[in-house]
Formats: sequence, C-alpha cells, structure tokens
Amino acid sequence: MTAKPAAAAARATVYGYPRQGQNRELKKAIEGYWKGRVTADALRQTAADLRRSNWQQLTEAGIHEVPTGDFSYYDHVLDTSVMVSAVPERHREATAADALDGYFAMARGTQDVAPLEMTKWFDTNYHYLVPELGPDTVFAGDSTKQVAELKEALALGHAARPVLVGPITYLLLAKPAPGVAADFQPITLLDRLLPVYARVLADLRAAGAEWVQVDEPALVQDRTPADLNAAARAYRELGGATDRPKLLVASYFDRLGDALQVLAAAPVEGLALDFTDSAASNLDALAAVGGLPGKRLVAGVVNGRNIWINDYQKSLATLGTLLGLADQVDVAASCSLLHVPLDANAERDIDPQIRRWFAFARQKTTEISTLARGLAQGTHVIAAELAANRADLASRAHSAITHDPAVRARTAAITDADGRRSQPYAQRTAAQRAHLGLPVLPTTTIGSFPQTDELRVARADLRAGRIDAAGYEERIENEIREVISFQEKTGVDVLVHGEPERNDMVQYFAEQLTGYVATQHGWVQSYGTRYVRPPVLAGDISRPEPMTVRWTTFAQGQTSKPVKGMLTGPVTMLAWSFVRDDQPLGDTARQVALALRDEVNDLEAAGTSAIQVDEPALRETLPLRAADHAEYLAWATESFRLSTSGVRPDTQIHTHMCYAEFGDIVQAIDDLDADVISLEAARSHMQVADELAEHGYPREAGPGVWDIHSPRIPSTDEAAGLLRKGLDAIPAERLWVNPDCGLKTRGWPETRASLEILVAAAREVRAEL
Ligand code: GLN
Ligand code: ZN
Repeated sequence: MTAKPAAAAARATVYGYPRQGQNRELKKAIEGYWKGRVTADALRQTAADLRRSNWQQLTEAGIHEVPTGDFSYYDHVLDTSVMVSAVPERHREATAADALDGYFAMARGTQDVAPLEMTKWFDTNYHYLVPELGPDTVFAGDSTKQVAELKEALALGHAARPVLVGPITYLLLAKPAPGVAADFQPITLLDRLLPVYARVLADLRAAGAEWVQVDEPALVQDRTPADLNAAARAYRELGGATDRPKLLVASYFDRLGDALQVLAAAPVEGLALDFTDSAASNLDALAAVGGLPGKRLVAGVVNGRNIWINDYQKSLATLGTLLGLADQVDVAASCSLLHVPLDANAERDIDPQIRRWFAFARQKTTEISTLARGLAQGTHVIAAELAANRADLASRAHSAITHDPAVRARTAAITDADGRRSQPYAQRTAAQRAHLGLPVLPTTTIGSFPQTDELRVARADLRAGRIDAAGYEERIENEIREVISFQEKTGVDVLVHGEPERNDMVQYFAEQLTGYVATQHGWVQSYGTRYVRPPVLAGDISRPEPMTVRWTTFAQGQTSKPVKGMLTGPVTMLAWSFVRDDQPLGDTARQVALALRDEVNDLEAAGTSAIQVDEPALRETLPLRAADHAEYLAWATESFRLSTSGVRPDTQIHTHMCYAEFGDIVQAIDDLDADVISLEAARSHMQVADELAEHGYPREAGPGVWDIHSPRIPSTDEAAGLLRKGLDAIPAERLWVNPDCGLKTRGWPETRASLEILVAAAREVRAEL
C-alpha cells in the first residue's frame, strides 16, 4: 500500500528503553553500591554513561525524539513518589540523611524499617513500589531528577521529551499508608497533587522541554465515572497553565474505552495510544469521537511488550487510516520498551531461522523509524525493508516449527471428555484419602526446598564442564535424599522431592519442551536489580520425553510416604514467557496443556499418587478489562483441566497459587476441578479461607500458615491459631496444613524449625477435633 505523506512529517519516538545496559552494568553498579564496593559517584557515572549510550543508540536507529526521565535506579513509580515528595514517615530520616540511601531504603527496607510494598505494573511482569498516601499527605515538587536528565540529553544534542507517570495513574496505583483507614481513596488527593505536577511541568519547560509525556495507563482499566471526572479535571487544570510545555498524554496496555472521549476533549496538544492486539479497537473509537483535529497523535503500532517482528503492511495500514484522524501522526512502540530484552542479535545460540522472527528493543527502534520513514516519505522509500519483512513473516507463517502436524492433529482432536475427570470430586476424595492413607489435617509443603549455594555451584560446574552429567545427577540425588529424610523425620504427610534440579519453575520445563526457545541474554527487569529471562513460546509445543519422572520416582524410592509430583501449569507457563502472537493464547495454552498431560499421566504410571500443578499466575494474568475476563478464564481453566484430567480417580491433583486476594476468581479456582489447592494466606490472616468459604468452595484447601517471604520462624501457637481460624471457614476433613509458598528462597535453619513447628501445630489442633 502507499500511504499519503502526513501533513507534518511523521516522527519516530519511544516512551522508554531498557535501563540495564548491554551487560547489565546497572545491576552490577547498584548491587556493588549496596555492598559498599562502588561509590555513589561511580554509580552516578555508570548511570549517566548508560543514558548517554541509550540515547545514542536510539538516535542512530532513527528515533527523532528520545525519552528522558524514564531511567531509574530502581523503579519509575518510586521516582514519582520522590518527585512529589510522598516519602512515608518511616523513611524520612533516611532520605534526609542521604537522598540516594533513603531512596534505596524505601525500595528495599533496612534493618529497622520496612520497604514500600511491591506489586505488578498492570498486567506486565514488571513490579513497582506502591505509593503510601493518606489524608495528611503533603506533596511538594522536586523536579531535580527530571530536569537533570532532560538537560543531559539536550546537552548531547538530542531532541528529548521527558516522560512522567501521570497524576491520575499515580494516585490510582497508590494505597492507604499504614495507620490510615483502609477505605481511604488516594484519588481524593488530586487537588493537592495537581499544583505539584504543574510546578514540575513548568520547571521542565524552563529547562527546555517542548513536549512532556504524561503516562496514564490506569485509564485503560475499567474506571468509575468519578475517576474519569478526575482525569478530565486534571487535564483541564494542567492544560490551563500558561508556563507549561506541550502535553502528550499517553496510554498503553489496552484500549482507552470511555477515557478516550475525556482525553480527546482535554486541552492538551497530543495523545499517545496503543493500537496493538487488545487495544486495536482504539482505532474505531478514535474515529467515533471525530479524531484529534489540531492535535498530535503518537501511534503505538509496534508491540512494546512482545518480542515478535512487526507486520509492516498491517502497521502502515493502521497509520494510513490514522492520518485522516489527527494533524500529526507519529510512530512509536505501544508502551515503554522496558518490557522486552535489549538486543536479539546478541542471541548467538538461537537458530537464525527463528531469530529472524525476533525483535527486541533495538530491533523495535529500527522498526519504528522504518515505519515513520515510510509514513512520511511514501512506502517506496522502504521498499527493501518491506520486502525483507514480508519474507521474514512468511518464513514464520510457513515454518515446520510453528506448524507441527502432530501437535495440530492432537489439539484438533480434543474432546470435552479430555478435560473432565472420570468421577466428580465428591466421589474421588474418599478414594484418594484411602489410597494415600492420610490423617485429618494432612501436612505438606509447596514443592521447593532451599536452593543452597552448593546446588547453584553444581549447576555452574555442569555448565562450565567441571563436572559431567553423572556428577551433577549424583549431587541432585544426594540433595533429594536429604530433603526426603528430613520430611520423614519431621512427620510431614505428603512429601516433595524439593525441586533441586530446577533453575526456575518455567525455564526448567521450557528447556525440555520442543517449540520453546530460551534466550542467553534476554534479560528483562522484574523489579529493582532483579532481571528475568522469560523463554519464548516460539512454535508448536510438544514433549519429546518425560521431564520430571526420573527425579520424582527417585524421591519416591527413598520413602514409603507419598511423594507429590510437581509441575508448572499451562497458564503460568504462558504468563512468564513471551507468547506467540500468531494464534489465540488459548491455542498455545492447549498445546502446553497436552504436553503436561503426558507428564501427569507418566507420573501416575510411575507410581505417583499426588501430583501438584502450580498456577501462581492464574490471578495475575486476568485481563485488565472485566469484559475480557470470561474468555480468558474459559481457556485458562480448560487448559488446566486438560493437563490434569487423564488420571485415575484415586490420584490426587493439587494446585498452588500465591499472592492474596482470590475472592474474584473462586469460581474459576473451582472450575479447575483440582482436588486440593494450597494458597498464600499467612500475611492476610487466613482471609482467603473465609473467601473460599463465602463462595461455597467445595474442595480441599491449604491456606498457608507460615509466611515464607520472611525468615521469621512462627511459634507453634501462631501456626495453631491460624489453623483454628482456618477451621472456622473450612471443615477439618477438607483442611490441609502447609506453608504459603515454596521454600527455595529460604535458608535451611528456618526451614527446619518452621516445618517442625508446622507439624507440631497440626498435631495439636488434630487432638482438639
Ligand atoms: N512449586 C513451586 C515451589 O515450591 C511453586 C512456586 C510458586 O508458587 N511461585 O517453588
Ligand atoms: Zn507460591
């Protein structure tokens, strides 16, 4: 297609870039600073160098306007809290003594003070620090960081656009500070916050910003009319100032819905909208509100949170339509590139046939500038790129990797019966109890035991060739022996093998499944200095051979007590990977589910009578818009059932989920048709047990009685108290006794002590029944 040139030439831009650097220099510098090995000045220098090289990369790739202020030592929401001086009372002493140390104290806590709470940034795998606000919060503008980074970029000769977390999103992401009534709504502080934003905007204008981007992703979620009114008020007020830069209000991760009208009518000069996947309806919605006459539209047509190459033809068609809807149309990724790894070309071990389908941050910037060039000058100037793009897309569409006939035939043949156990839960449970020989209030753990230094060394030794596979397996076997014998001695009823062979609960399986690709350098920030390397669901998924049977049967061979098999469920496998964008998520989930089903059946055949399929990501993968929930939950629960329904009635299927607040998905949890679920509950004092009871959850459940996120050892009284509380909601014959989550981040001393206490508490409460 040939797009007519835009009235004003289209420009290329991005909202943010990976912060860590090619070799994760930032992580190393920050952690070095924490350990006292790197000085504050050296850390600042590393950060400035990274910013400079990022801007240079962007400019060289043809990005016309680079973002500033998106850089962070830890988290951009925490940076915003600093910008508006919303420092919790308990951190004021530290921040007053030293701004940088105070900043890290808020992020990580110290011996004496707790950090801010951390939670997921919308439906990404990035985590932000939750602002703590209350009726007494006093905001004050501190534009130091924003102004300094803008000046840095301008001094280097870049056209730069500062990026801020918007006031509405900031308040909607906040929670009541400790001691403040739980029903306090931070959005009520808007009038106090707006003058502070106006101040920062004025400072940025004075420092040379023509445009400032204000991010309001919270507006893509279902919002109340009051929230929308607040947004209208905010931009009326900020837009009404005279000493301000031009404002670009950005949204991403989904469609704007009703908020589009609000922002389109606001006195701001531009909007940035997501036009990918679930946000594609922004296009029709924009036409319906009459477009953005006289305004700048930044079109997020390159997916900023997935790793696949763009479809240029499709993007150009979207951009061409948008030209009729705004005065100026610019090209961008749908969101900050923070959510993708840096450079696909660093992946030397990936089959070049597959790598040509990948676009990480660097490749995406080239895509954006190519599209902007095509839009501005006509598609003939990008003819070569278009042809190459077509060829790459075709190679993916016709590859044997993305189309495995055996996998396709198998998923096509799935019947309803495949997703149904042969007997209902009520009948199965008696058979399982008899088969497993369990007492009332059975004790178990969630799967992993401490990942000791020795285990990490063993894995490193194996990778480096210092030990061979046999030497490695011997170390794993020794570890399993110890874990089993400890559990036997302690009196745990359903044992686990401890997962010592697993580097990560998703990667371990991804490495063994055909169609999955692991990256070597594909680091993505999860939070602070923690980076993960999500594997890529690149093709059709199959399981060439059993993945866990060897270790589970070895463990079972050490004891006469039941050992629980341990797998990661299909939803979590998808949630913590980069997913295919060339077929519905449900199709990918079904493929993974069938591979897991084979594993579940093999475990049963090898004598395993209890099998746990973890789905910690079930709740967090819930789409941002309620209208999309039902469709998601349908494929999510179906794929879980597909993976677990091939077993005999007397084989007990467990599942596990972390992160409290399950109230809104109890029906979905029930739809999994698992026999037993273990849940995180210790911190919320068994609230989840009440939630299950309230919804009439009919199965067995183990709300956690030991908070494993802290090294603190509970007392027997405490654990028994929580159990009694659990009994108020769940009858004894359906209540299990277990910790909140896996123990891999814990040390052995507290693990030993806490599990002994957990068993003692179970015995004490059993005696009262
Ligand atoms: N089985 C896993 C473990 O114990 C579960 C981890 C999780 O829930 N995130 O580590
Ligand atoms: Zn967990």
